[in-house]
Amino acid sequence: MENKYQNAIALADKQRELINRAWDYLWKHPETGYKEWKSHAYLKAEYEKLGYTLVEAGDIPGFYTEIDTGRPGPTLLVMAELDALCVATHPECDPETKAVHACGHCCQSAQVLGVAAALKEPGALDGLSGKIRLMEVPAEEAIEIAWREELRKKGTIRYFGGKQEFVARGMMDGVDLDTMIHSSSGIKNRVGASPGQNGFLIKELTFKGRSVHAAGPTKGINALYAATQALGAINSLRETFKDDDHIRVHPIITKGGTVVNAIPEEVTVESYVRGASVEAIMAANDRVNRAAAGAALSLGANVTICDRPGYLPRHNDMEMTQIAMDAANIALGEGSAVLGTKWGTGSSDIGDLSMLFPTAYMHISGATGSSHGANFDVSDTEALCVDAAKVQMVFIRMLLENGAERAKKIVAEFKPLYKTKEEYCAAMDAMTHDCDAIEYGEEKNATVKW
Ligand SMILES: [Zn+2]
Ligand SMILES: [Zn+2]
Repeated sequence: MENKYQNAIALADKQRELINRAWDYLWKHPETGYKEWKSHAYLKAEYEKLGYTLVEAGDIPGFYTEIDTGRPGPTLLVMAELDALCVATHPECDPETKAVHACGHCCQSAQVLGVAAALKEPGALDGLSGKIRLMEVPAEEAIEIAWREELRKKGTIRYFGGKQEFVARGMMDGVDLDTMIHSSSGIKNRVGASPGQNGFLIKELTFKGRSVHAAGPTKGINALYAATQALGAINSLRETFKDDDHIRVHPIITKGGTVVNAIPEEVTVESYVRGASVEAIMAANDRVNRAAAGAALSLGANVTICDRPGYLPRHNDMEMTQIAMDAANIALGEGSAVLGTKWGTGSSDIGDLSMLFPTAYMHISGATGSSHGANFDVSDTEALCVDAAKVQMVFIRMLLENGAERAKKIVAEFKPLYKTKEEYCAAMDAMTHDCDAIEYGEEKNATVKW
């Protein structure tokens, strides 16, 4: 089919060799969040070969670069994620670190590198207005939390998620709207998008009791029983969660005691509290903390509450996302893309960006197996990388052609939850909460807070 986007598609198609080399290298060098230095170095060299000047994060992996159409207009951010995750049973995982690209992020970087190369081709920017910022972001997967907490305490990072960290560092300053295409093994159409997905808060509850010999427990305070009481109380709260808030609380006990012949003195429960809005997450979390405090009090124990911001809910900008679907239909053929209606219960740090800028987050099929699973594979890299680059090239053109009229309209109509980076960071920091819930008084009284 001849269409006015044919050239944009052809320019992406031309980058196949570069794209294929990139995903192959990245697949063979999987690195988890904030450790993606080999991937960073490889991509940095490739971008610099194309003539790009990079703004690097510095003490963490990741960078961005910009290409200016030379005409005024909004800045469109096109992202790729750098990180792998750990699946020890995956046949192709790194034997030492167990890291593997079982979420397919290697294909995103190859795809966006292809876009970077295509945009440097003669005529690629003809008729476009504004700027395109191309970004390699670290640490999307919310894993290795204890290690990231160490990084946070050292002051290296402020937040666990790479996109969050990039906001705090000012690397998103000047962005007007953003997009990315994620690999998928689970969508029906070649390209799909949902209205949005849950966000979450990360929590650790440390129940504290008193250890005595298990054969003479009368003077003991059993921290494990306090924890199990708390799990019961949390379960009893579930019927109070509103259906539309999509609340999920899924605690696990990560430390249940030390030795079997001593009453457990310290027991640790970790959980996420997931939900469809920041308000709903915070309200549910408040009740979870109250349940934990009440359970600890009932046994004369205590609980240390440690809350950390996870990722905010993603609310795709529906007008922008519909244009993305149209772009996919143009690039890959009519019927390739469908905008879904189902709310997602997983999470990603692109949610945070969707609270700041109009966002279009989509998936492209071509992977097989179960995402994050031992059988995941980037089977059809032509679809995951080259086709995705074609969709991006058409999407960029649709947003930025005709004086960037579509992008400007989307930006003008967008209502951010947080108007500034400072407002966003303040809200994130307010989710960082540490407290001992109970202060016991002299006699038959206690002060409880959570
Ligand atoms: Zn993932
Ligand atoms: Zn992913």
